Amino acid sequence: MFKIHQIPALETNFALILECTTTGEVALIDAPDAPPILNACKELGLTPSKIFVTHHHWDHVDGIAPLREHFDLTIYGPKAEAEQIGQLDIEVEPGTTLEFGNGHLNVIATPGHTFGHIAYFLVEQPTLFAGDALFSLGCGRMFDGPPDQMWAGLKRLRELPDATQLYCGHEYTLSNGAFAQTIGPTNKALLARIEQAQTQIDNGRPTLPTTLGNEKLTNPFLRADQIGIAQALGLDGSNPVATFAALRKAKDQF
Ligand SMILES: [Zn+2]
Repeated sequence: MFKIHQIPALETNFALILECTTTGEVALIDAPDAPPILNACKELGLTPSKIFVTHHHWDHVDGIAPLREHFDLTIYGPKAEAEQIGQLDIEVEPGTTLEFGNGHLNVIATPGHTFGHIAYFLVEQPTLFAGDALFSLGCGRMFDGPPDQMWAGLKRLRELPDATQLYCGHEYTLSNGAFAQTIGPTNKALLARIEQAQTQIDNGRPTLPTTLGNEKLTNPFLRADQIGIAQALGLDGSNPVATFAALRKAKDQF
């Protein structure tokens, strides 16, 4: 059994504490900021021994050094970004599987937001830690691209089971929803998700986790190969990569 503790950090980030309740092993997914993580670990009585890093951006790694002063940590992260992160003990490559507790994390290539971005999928209790590759109703800004590789990464995530619990690096659901609504104004599942997210925010709760199945129905960035998305962008007949790139650009300008 695994428990996931989701801790708001910085302005919009989430720190995630992953606990294997069978073995007692505890890990973090990214380290946006040390103080809220330290507080949560203290409150929960947890001692992390690993950090699984998704990408090199400061709001995902700045907590590593200060956390190392409190815990004996092994830092895992994308080999492609080892130089940028600078603190990795274990450089991991997409396609590999890591052991955690009595389970396994599959490492999935999700480049585009950054060139070496990876996501982690907990096999035994389908859970996706998507970092900034995929958000609820959106995806990460394409800093590095190229669009065909970013689209390929999102398709890899889309292949995971519908029941997969999706955790992301940021609370962006409502702003993503406002854009998604301009692309799919008649998508009933999307409208229901926006309403749900609004209620969650109004009640001071996070909009995550959600399920990957729901994202497949509502997130335009996972649906760039659906005819309605190209039509909404005035790109009838365009290929999915071009549609995805246009979608990402439209969101940047939204
Ligand atoms: Zn980022």
